[in-house]
Amino acid sequence: MSKISMGTPLVEMDGDEMTRVLWRLVKERLVLPFVDLKTEYYDLGVKNRDETGDAVTVDAARAILRHGVGVKCATITANAARKNEYALKNIFPSPNATIRAILDGTVFRKPVTVSRIKPAIATWKRPVVIGRHAYGDVYRNVEMQVDAPGRVELVFTGADGSEQRALVADMKGRGVVQAMHNYDDSIAGFARSCFRYALDEGLPLMFAAKDTISQIYDARFRDIFNSIYETEYKNKFGEKNIDYSYTLIDDAVARVVKSGGGFLWACKNYDGDVMSDMVASAAGSLAMMTSVLLSPEGCYEYEAAHGTVQKHFYRYQKGEKTSTNPVALIFAWAGALEKRAILDGIKPLSDFAQTLQTATLQTIENGKMTGDLAALCDPPPSPLNSWDFINEVTGVLRSAINRKDWKRPLPSGKPGECG
Ligand code: NAP
Ligand code: MG
Repeated sequence: MSKISMGTPLVEMDGDEMTRVLWRLVKERLVLPFVDLKTEYYDLGVKNRDETGDAVTVDAARAILRHGVGVKCATITANAARKNEYALKNIFPSPNATIRAILDGTVFRKPVTVSRIKPAIATWKRPVVIGRHAYGDVYRNVEMQVDAPGRVELVFTGADGSEQRALVADMKGRGVVQAMHNYDDSIAGFARSCFRYALDEGLPLMFAAKDTISQIYDARFRDIFNSIYETEYKNKFGEKNIDYSYTLIDDAVARVVKSGGGFLWACKNYDGDVMSDMVASAAGSLAMMTSVLLSPEGCYEYEAAHGTVQKHFYRYQKGEKTSTNPVALIFAWAGALEKRAILDGIKPLSDFAQTLQTATLQTIENGKMTGDLAALCDPPPSPLNSWDFINEVTGVLRSAINRKDWKRPLPSGKPGECG
């Protein structure tokens, strides 16, 4: 079979530890034999970030802005222990934070579901997708401890010298104080990314906040979402037969737990941090959580939600063939190739990307899986190591391609043929 051609290159960002090992394996076994792969490669491994003064991360993010689609391996966020371990000269910020600051995006997390792995919430028949605002609020807070009675005020001094003041508290004694901020532009970017993702995926969108208590701050988010929806997206949503709704965050939590899934839940930064872990563990495993960063301009960066799986890597270095789950990495490659194919209008490439996803899911439905998933099955099948699992996927993929059986991934929650 001749290889499928690409048009625009993908921005490929390599990473660290066990995911770097699997990255190569996935690329060599599941992509290169089938696709005449065009990538612009950036090595975001911790050593190369250090050697380039982290310029490689900035260059990679700018390349995504230029080309539109990137795929990223998990990377070490350095700290003092990692500085010692890798003899680094500096501790640079998390590459994800650097990339997000440049793309100004929203992170969407969606669990990959298979019929053999039952979600902890039995009513979830389709995935619950989280859209997390990636700027501001408590992550950019300013806080202090005060040790004596006194007056705490918020003061805004305008560039023109004007002033706004609000009393925070007349402190009666020792206590703590915090201030937060966000920008209209960032909130609007968040809203547009969510509307665009919902349209792309054909999912209804719910945004939730606490505007009854936070009548200025959270209300600003609500109003910006509403006005962008009314002026830019209402008609497009109508054409796709999906809707947008705003609700209180506590009401949203109660509704999500009782829902059947199949919607996008837009969360403020902190809510998204907490709720994406809840959704990942309720859906099955962190190793089955996909993640895509979408910028308001329509640039995409695909990755796995998990980290570099450090403990497995130490065992791999000692010669063990670990049973590390590569599904989220495979889906990152498939998602990026599919998006590239759609943007460039290359049907064979999008057929391939979808078949790669189907083949991965079908392999698990066939009872072939890594240890993290096997432990969730009843009865548990014998777990495969990552190499054997990827070989099984390759077999299923090759036979689908030979049969010219291009097909979409199994609808989530639908039992597999062999489930
Ligand atoms: P982690 O890599 O997500 O792994 C934590 C644990 O979760 C693993 O020890 C393993 O549990 C399980 N796990 C995660 N992914 C798995 C997979 N694909 N297959 C099987 N099990 C999996 O988190 P970490 O070990 O705390 O962090 C390691 C490094 O990753 C850190 O340096 C951190 O900075 C970085 N990190 C990067 C990203 C990113 O680039 N997006 C995100 C998070 C963390 P068992 O040991 O029980 O098998
Ligand atoms: Mg978190």
